[in-house]
Amino acid sequence: MTQLILHDVTKRFNDAYAVDHVNLSVPDGKLVCFLGPSGCGKTTLMRIIAGLETPSSGSLTFEGVDLTRVPANRRDFGMVFQSLALFPHMTVAQNIAYPLRLRKTDSATQARRVAELLEMIQLPHMAGRLVTQLSGGQRQRVAIARAIAASPRLLLLDEPLSALDAKLREAMQVEIRLLQQRLGITTIMVTHDQREAMTLADEIVVMEQGRIQQIGKPLDIYRDPVNEFVADFIGLGNILPVTAAGDQIVLPGGQRLAMPASPAGRAPASGQDVRLLIRPEDVCVRTGERGAATNTLRGVVTFVRDVGVSIEATIDCEGFTLTAATTPRETPGLHTGMPVFAELPAHACKLIAARAPH
Ligand code: ATP
Repeated sequence: MTQLILHDVTKRFNDAYAVDHVNLSVPDGKLVCFLGPSGCGKTTLMRIIAGLETPSSGSLTFEGVDLTRVPANRRDFGMVFQSLALFPHMTVAQNIAYPLRLRKTDSATQARRVAELLEMIQLPHMAGRLVTQLSGGQRQRVAIARAIAASPRLLLLDEPLSALDAKLREAMQVEIRLLQQRLGITTIMVTHDQREAMTLADEIVVMEQGRIQQIGKPLDIYRDPVNEFVADFIGLGNILPVTAAGDQIVLPGGQRLAMPASPAGRAPASGQDVRLLIRPEDVCVRTGERGAATNTLRGVVTFVRDVGVSIEATIDCEGFTLTAATTPRETPGLHTGMPVFAELPAHACKLIAARAPH
């Protein structure tokens, strides 16, 4: 069931669109990430949903009720911002109880709920500490507990992990995901980190310049990006400018590959310039003979990043550079200067439209 629906929402600041005709449905119980580069309008869209910003046009409904003009404090949404905005003069328990106090919940219920939430965030022994005496990760958990204390109808998280170091951030991503699934609370999270979005989201909304570029499950977007912007933004990718030539495509430098399958009616005409996307893990590196494999290119290894569990290799293919992901087991002894063959299996090659010039 769809809970939150945005109908043709725009937000203009002066003459510029921060949010440009956005239509979106957020399904019940799912975690949706707004993902995009700095300035693409993620926070503005989130603030419109929160009620902290009024759209210039368009509307939003929640469970069928129009919320467009309903103020933030009457929406019953829980929020966690990048700054966390915890009250420094209050203890952990007082911070968590704050939304319950605002609602004039009786003190016995408040105490029970706070105890429950402290258990849930695994900080029951820190109830009486000031939040200034907590670590970044602990503060993070308190902010989430406070946001969900009053059982909000929707949880909004705006870059809540950006102040944490990489390791803690990854651990908190898992915690947020498990908590969200356990509570089944519909959640929207803003992030500019594609890895974070891939880890957490049921659905990712990729934005650029105020517009939604693609909405989909993380792996669907990774495998089938609709355009060059999305392909480039989600994951590592080799995006090569190629030209169609009959049933082949010509790569920079002149090597050729078989024309990848295109959805019906979308095969490029001969001479047309398009982009070829192939993910590094799909590039198959051969260090010996060329073998019988088709779609195989000559190249020379120009860089090897071997981190033990995996190898990232850069291959100069006479006119362009490929990044390949492999393992020490698959390609033992791979080193800079080594001549190799790179197989680009036809099923892993995707043609996508070139990014329109800005
Ligand atoms: P970031 O990841 O850097 O936070 P974002 O994707 O969240 O970026 P927004 O903060 O939504 O982007 O900003 C979108 C655009 O709207 C930007 O060009 C920004 O400068 C502009 N903008 C946002 N708020 C205002 C405001 N109050 N007044 C004028 N322009 C604004």
